[in-house]
Amino acid sequence: MNPQHDVELLSRYVDGEVSTAEQKKMERHLAECGICREHLEQLSTLRDGIREAADYELPSTFTSNLLRTIRLRESVLEERAGAERFAWRVVLALSVLVVVVVGYANLSQPEPLVTVDRVLAAEAPDSLTRRVIEPRHEISKDDIVFAAISK
Ligand SMILES: [Zn+2]
Repeated sequence: MNPQHDVELLSRYVDGEVSTAEQKKMERHLAECGICREHLEQLSTLRDGIREAADYELPSTFTSNLLRTIRLRESVLEERAGAERFAWRVVLALSVLVVVVVGYANLSQPEPLVTVDRVLAAEAPDSLTRRVIEPRHEISKDDIVFAAISK
């Protein structure tokens, strides 16, 4: 950097952190240098802005308003998450239902076969004794006639 333009000194000059000798040196330079005068103006504006920001007082309701806004947003996010969880539970429940229905349809057997003997004995199959029993032989017309006669 051009030693004539002492930015570090200019910065301390703006902040009032210079010796009397440094102050005189800077004032002599500023009288001749438009670039540093412009830079001085920018630094002064920046310094004033920072001081104003530091002095700015927040309204007394700021903290409570901020907390309320945060809680409101959190509750909206929680509601969305809850709705999403609910939707996934519905999907899961429907999936389980489909599996159960399909599984039951596949596993459920046709009505247990009833032997000719049981038919002839007029033995009604009940749910407890119901089981699959292969017939000893095909039911023929004679069996039906015999059953009808013996009744
Ligand atoms: Zn200069």
